[in-house]
Amino acid sequence: MFKFLVALLIFVLLFDVSNAQELQTDSGATECTASNTEQGWWRESQPIMGTVVAVEVRSEGRASACSAIAAVMTEMKRIDALMTTWSPDSELSRLNREAPKRYVPIEAELFDLIDRSLDFSRMTAGAFDVTYASAGRFYDFRQGIRPDDAELEKAVNAIDYRYLLLDRKHKAIRYRHPEVFVDLGGIAKGYAVDRSIEILEAHGVSEAMVSAGGDSRIVGDRGGEPWVVGVRDPRVRGANVALLPLMDVSVSTSGDYERFFEDNGTRYHHIIDPTTGDSARGVRSVTILGADALMTDALSTSVFVMGLEEGIALIDALNGVDAIVVDGEGRLHVSRDLLDMNNTVATMEGR
Ligand code: AMP
Ligand code: MG
Repeated sequence: MFKFLVALLIFVLLFDVSNAQELQTDSGATECTASNTEQGWWRESQPIMGTVVAVEVRSEGRASACSAIAAVMTEMKRIDALMTTWSPDSELSRLNREAPKRYVPIEAELFDLIDRSLDFSRMTAGAFDVTYASAGRFYDFRQGIRPDDAELEKAVNAIDYRYLLLDRKHKAIRYRHPEVFVDLGGIAKGYAVDRSIEILEAHGVSEAMVSAGGDSRIVGDRGGEPWVVGVRDPRVRGANVALLPLMDVSVSTSGDYERFFEDNGTRYHHIIDPTTGDSARGVRSVTILGADALMTDALSTSVFVMGLEEGIALIDALNGVDAIVVDGEGRLHVSRDLLDMNNTVATMEGR
């Protein structure tokens, strides 16, 4: 169903992108902090994981809705504390310090997520690689800092997911290169969104939307109507190139406009090509639709690195996953399933 709706909207937009609209952000839900007792949808947002986490749920009463939302926020903060590389106290920071020297036993949850990330590395021939940060850690996109050539050359040598040695029995990891640095920024938000949905479901919630920056997951619909998620225009602030009416799906967008600076006309942004240690520059944004947010998060970053043709070919080879790509010239492309449906709709329209 959602695919049909997506197809319909993309069809309209492919042929009239200039009509791109702004996403309606005022959903009409009541803030958990509000003092009224309106029933229906409840929402809250907080800055966590270096982005904005927003949760909306439908519930008969404020107490149950807002305690479910609070549990999600607590979970997001817990995952962030475990996996951030911004703090030296996280489990991941400890791993980065100690794993070049020996096998380091770590919390099973962190071990398992790193293990999952390797599945995506293999699936994408290394386009997705959490050791990107061996070079990525030398950039500061807020301050416009990037590594010099010598630094970069050295750092790139330490990018390779095969440098991670996993001892599954003891949930321990060792780095087979002294300069390896792991960062989970390309997959942790999706993981956290999936965990949040599990928590909401355990609280009895059956209609909800959780988003962490560019990674969102929707359970059910919104009172009989689909949620409408905008695919941002990568170059025009506040504009969208597509509006996706969605239900029961995860959606992730990776874009070169999220965290970047420009130097001599070159855009340096946060998605790194593991083969060069430089920003990947084939496309401007990638949106992935699929069943869970861990997968859509990892694949949006992957397809961004792989570029239009290779990236769409990967998505076309996977079941139940769709992609919408804005290429380097600002043109919109969709994966085969969405394209097929657009053609169907086009034929129906043409009658
Ligand atoms: P997203 O917005 O989901 O595409 O995630 C971007 C984040 O993924 C960056 O901020 C980095 O933390 C991380 N990242 C960048 N390049 C890669 C890569 N090639 N493989 C895995 N993670 C990456
Ligand atoms: Mg991603």
